[in-house]
Amino acid sequence: MARKTETVPAYRLVRSHRKSLAVVVRTDNSVEVRSPLAMPRDRIDLFVRANSGWIERKRAENHARVRLEPVSPEHVRRFADLLPAWIKALAAQHALPLPRGIRLRDMVSRWGSCSQKGTITLNTRCAALPETLQTYVILHEMCHLRHMNHSRAFWQLLLACLPDARERRHQLKAYQLVRADREGASL
Ligand SMILES: [Zn+2]
Repeated sequence: MARKTETVPAYRLVRSHRKSLAVVVRTDNSVEVRSPLAMPRDRIDLFVRANSGWIERKRAENHARVRLEPVSPEHVRRFADLLPAWIKALAAQHALPLPRGIRLRDMVSRWGSCSQKGTITLNTRCAALPETLQTYVILHEMCHLRHMNHSRAFWQLLLACLPDARERRHQLKAYQLVRADREGASL
């Protein structure tokens, strides 16, 4: 059981035209509260206090960040086998262009990339991610086939394909790419 806390955890308040309160714990352990425009601050504090146990649990989960080392060749091969049909299905589903080529490479600095020529390179370590995050990485790179940047238009396209893309992006940040010797850079 979570300890009862008297104080309200510090949070960033984002007001918008929404009907209910929601609390989000980010991977950097900051707390964001989304609230309707006119909700009084003391009611928001009450809500945050009532959810402080849940916030503590989420923060503890964040501490358990996953360190991803290179994955085995068999694991990569299984992932690679799935990719062509998967990418074809995503292209059809979201009316996105098909890449000219798909490559897999072990990388410590990025999950994927898309070249000017339309070749998508995915990190072999994507093979070890949950499927929801694999889909995020693949769709992210496929949207670069339309927009070779991270412009507003790019994010609009990605969000149209994947409405919870931002949430998945935050989840992906819990995965740290490390070198086999465990001294690599984090993402
Ligand atoms: Zn990108």
